[in-house]
Amino acid sequence: MNYLVEQTIERLKEARVRITPQRQAILEYLILHDLHPTADEVYQELATQFPNMSVATVYNNLRLLTKMGFVKEMKFGDSSSRFDFASTEHYHAICSNCGKVEDIYYPGLDAVEDVAADLTGFKVESHRLEVYGLCPECQV
Ligand SMILES: [Zn+2]
Ligand SMILES: [Zn+2]
Repeated sequence: MNYLVEQTIERLKEARVRITPQRQAILEYLILHDLHPTADEVYQELATQFPNMSVATVYNNLRLLTKMGFVKEMKFGDSSSRFDFASTEHYHAICSNCGKVEDIYYPGLDAVEDVAADLTGFKVESHRLEVYGLCPECQV
């Protein structure tokens, strides 16, 4: 089993979360495929493996994993949420034509938070950066 999968399952067990085969498959799918899928895409992928599983089950599991901090839910405009395994902090580039999401690993722009705090008096907790444009396939 993939190390990250194993480690995450250990942490879920410690938190007394029951590891159902579906839950494990959803987690594995997110960790092994860096595709930022929607709940529906995860469902489509696992439907043959778990014919009795519903989209709602997938969604509830993603919600649970998000609430526990293992997964990040990304909302882009009014399209459905995409889910990402939150291993390392990173930013995203989003194709405005096909909706593909590519990871950007770049040092955290923490200075932005300091500047924002200075300018607004906010106690800043987080920030988001998204880059929009056309992916290589969509440029042709
Ligand atoms: Zn594209
Ligand atoms: Zn990502």
